[in-house]
Amino acid sequence: MMIETYSPKETFLLGEKIGKKAAAGSVFSLIGDLGVGKTVLTQGIAKGLGIMEPICSPTFTIVQVYEEGRMPFYHFDVYRIGDIEEMEEIGYEDYFYGDGFTMIEWANLIEEILPEHYTKVTIEKDPDRGFDYRRIVIEEVNAA
Ligand code: ADP
Ligand code: MG
Repeated sequence: MMIETYSPKETFLLGEKIGKKAAAGSVFSLIGDLGVGKTVLTQGIAKGLGIMEPICSPTFTIVQVYEEGRMPFYHFDVYRIGDIEEMEEIGYEDYFYGDGFTMIEWANLIEEILPEHYTKVTIEKDPDRGFDYRRIVIEEVNAA
């Protein structure tokens, strides 16, 4: 599925819709360059899950846990990860295979430990379509 947005608000609302529909145990990977709107989308998802506290990028902690929504929200940012062992140290499996909603920014860096099934969200700009244009592709991934 491909969605085009033309403002941060639209991206936020898409996130909110995803958060409202999300099933417990879902894992989403979020791919896109710096400043493309990953945090904006994540903030919408958090709102859709019923989380009121502000979401910031968990850049220095790998994972940030929010418990106040209709299910736990595990927000990973693995941009600065050195190797997979760091994921093992924090016990990533309890999150990925738990009953919450897992969102992993820069999931392409930890591809080898992603679950068999996850939802991949890719956000891209297109300068020809304007400064605030974003192309958001959502696809289900099933490892063979
Ligand atoms: P990332 O987390 O991917 O590094 P952010 O979500 O922090 O990026 O920032 C995205 C920036 O792009 C924000 O300043 C936001 O206002 C701006 N922006 C402009 N158009 C859009 C859009 N259509 N969707 C999301 N963000 C947009
Ligand atoms: Mg961000």
